[in-house]
Amino acid sequence: MNDIDVSPSYVLPVVPIRDGIVFPGTEMILTFGRQRSVSAIESAKASGQKVLLVMQRNPNINDPTPSDLHQIGTVGEIVQMMKNEGEINALVKGIAKVQIQSYETVEPFFIARAFEITDNPDEGDETKALFNHLTNELRNAVKLGKTMDFLTFMNMMSGITPLALSYHVAGVLDIKSDERQELLEIQSVKDRFEKEISYLSKEIKILELERKIANKTQEKFDKNVREQVLRERIKTIEKELGQDDDSKETKELADKIKKANMPPDVRTKAEKELSRLAQMSQYNPESSYVRTYLDMLIELPWSVASPNDVVIKDAEKVLDTDHYGLKKIKERILEYLAVMKLRAQEEGAEKQKEESKQVSRKRKASPTILCFVGPPGVGKTSIGKSIARSLGRKFVKMSLGGIRDEAEIRGHRRTYVGALPGRIIQGIKQAGTKNPVFMLDEIDKVGTDFRGDPSSALLEALDPEQNYAFSDHYLEVPFDLSDVFFITTCNMLDTIPPALRDRLEVIRFAGYTEDEKFHIAKDFLYEKQREVHSIPKNIIDISDAAMYEIIRRYTKEAGVRNLEREMATIFRKIAKIIADNEKTQTSIKITPGSLHEYLGPYIFTSYLAEKKDEVGLATGMAWTEAGGDILFIEVALMPGKGALTLTGHLGDVMKESAQAALSYIRSKWKLLGLDEKFFHKTDIHVHVPEGAVPKDGPSAGAAIATAIVSALTKIPIKRSVAMTGEITLRGRVLEIGGVKEKVIAAHRAGIKTVILPKNNKKDLEDIPKIVQKELDFHFVEEIDEVLQVALSRKISKKAS
Ligand code: ADP
Repeated sequence: MNDIDVSPSYVLPVVPIRDGIVFPGTEMILTFGRQRSVSAIESAKASGQKVLLVMQRNPNINDPTPSDLHQIGTVGEIVQMMKNEGEINALVKGIAKVQIQSYETVEPFFIARAFEITDNPDEGDETKALFNHLTNELRNAVKLGKTMDFLTFMNMMSGITPLALSYHVAGVLDIKSDERQELLEIQSVKDRFEKEISYLSKEIKILELERKIANKTQEKFDKNVREQVLRERIKTIEKELGQDDDSKETKELADKIKKANMPPDVRTKAEKELSRLAQMSQYNPESSYVRTYLDMLIELPWSVASPNDVVIKDAEKVLDTDHYGLKKIKERILEYLAVMKLRAQEEGAEKQKEESKQVSRKRKASPTILCFVGPPGVGKTSIGKSIARSLGRKFVKMSLGGIRDEAEIRGHRRTYVGALPGRIIQGIKQAGTKNPVFMLDEIDKVGTDFRGDPSSALLEALDPEQNYAFSDHYLEVPFDLSDVFFITTCNMLDTIPPALRDRLEVIRFAGYTEDEKFHIAKDFLYEKQREVHSIPKNIIDISDAAMYEIIRRYTKEAGVRNLEREMATIFRKIAKIIADNEKTQTSIKITPGSLHEYLGPYIFTSYLAEKKDEVGLATGMAWTEAGGDILFIEVALMPGKGALTLTGHLGDVMKESAQAALSYIRSKWKLLGLDEKFFHKTDIHVHVPEGAVPKDGPSAGAAIATAIVSALTKIPIKRSVAMTGEITLRGRVLEIGGVKEKVIAAHRAGIKTVILPKNNKKDLEDIPKIVQKELDFHFVEEIDEVLQVALSRKISKKAS
């Protein structure tokens, strides 16, 4: 034995392995099929010998020669073996790493001489650190799904030497054969660890990636499966409910379209949309839009109409039963209905004639649209309802207040999400007939801005020359509005665009007198409220005096809306008493004294007639959207330099008329008994109370002048006198508007004497008889005449 050969040497049968290494200290099950290998193993086993396991350089060679084999291999011990049809399955344990020195024989199997190679154990800290790192990485890899024999893994994790670990790991890494051979050939544990760590971290990266991909695929798969399952479930449910096929819905819609009696072009459109719908998937979001659209087309009353026979006498009866007074208004309405009836007859006859001649009928302009103008609560809506009732037609009301967008009238195009038809078409749908009485409320409150001009769309709807083919953006097909009975309402005409105003036949509701309110309350509102509150007949007895007290002390309005509200309060309270105490079936009497109990303290305490005459306080008459009203003009004088202050939210026109009044007074100082220089020492403040309410217009001129004169002359103004009229610098009193409303309001407020411009005498005939009887009218041309009536004393002229 020479010096170099210190390691144990072996002479053993050689078993070539195509692809695999049994590392020292590890076990492996191998299958041997080649004759040479089988003989080698059998012979070794028989003689209790070990074998030399060496890997082929090229696994594909079937009959390798020594030169096809690696030089370094392992001495292996056959722990167990099983022969099966010429093949051997053997559990082989690696004992030592060896290098083949020479081949002794090649037949019937190789026998080689080899010597053991021992690795450098590298027991330094670095190896320890690498050892720890490697075990951690192994754990990681297993967590990430690296497959490994459980026992091998446990083995590696518990009290194993670095050398043993390095061989075990080399056996389980997922690497190529020559890489594995390289690991075997490395002679230092540290170097092997380093190589293994780099292989392992590569493997971990791949495992992580695989996991990510797997997760994503799983998610996607889960989602798809979920959708699929849900879809299947919907189908099953629909099947159960008998709604299985889309064609059923299509068929139903087709039926409905047929029954809807649409004009031919509308029907074509509906059928086109239906076939589009039929081709759409149920899950296409657009299908629900198309369905909504079709529903709208189907539901519109293309040819549903209430019978159109107006019996004027019956209509008159209905109007009378529903409303107290309003004689002129009812007359106007009946005239309108009469014209409508004649027109319908004429058109009917023409239509018959033309149909027989097969000529298309040209539409004749119908009379203009009714427009009820008046303050709130005067019965505009309720007259509208009565008209519908008297004609046997449906009634719909649509408020146009605050509309600025044309699309509100004409609808949004269907391309918009959530598009809807405009209010006109919605109203028609609501009515369910094509000839309802359609009330368009508050047309004076329609605005204009960048979103288009709603009033022009409105005009198209109302104009009898165009409205037989009204186009709504949503609908896309024209709708015939020519049979609709449009009634518009507003509080004032001023803000209605002229083009629209031209089409309107204005009927004014001026507001009610105290007596009219009394009768309305007694004969109509009482019964209405009784029914609303389900109170038995004859239980509530409101005395006449109490009713007047409600009108005077709890309401101040042109209409009867608040009056109705106050009555409702009483009825509600009584309903509660009756409900609480079932036996109370005896009548409850409401007297002026008991009103406080139901309605609380008076809302309007100062009744004008109860006040006394004052210096510098004149009563004017105003006209507002809420009807007529009286207003007070206060004047105060202060030492100063002739400044005129105006307060109370006055408009420019009203300010100018105050200036004109003052100029007139200054020019007439002598006639008015004033000091010539009065103006140099005095400041004048004109105030119109209720400063939050804007006031404008020239008609307070006479009242302002009277108040200033009264303040300067210290002569009180009669409290029972109210006046209106524009004044000029020369003291003339000019005609003004809104007389009827103003006079009724003055009467309501308890005024006894009214001063009006002479040119307004013609308006007297509009004023209810009772008001005319109870008021003392003075028609004047000059401001002097106003002063004569209004001031409580005569002015003594200044002696010149
Ligand atoms: P408007 O539309 O003018 O604001 P409404 O028609 O709503 O007023 O009227 C308010 C209430 O007053 C309704 O209950 C209505 O029936 C009632 N009313 C108004 N005028 C009369 C009248 N002349 N006769 C009977 N009831 C009336």
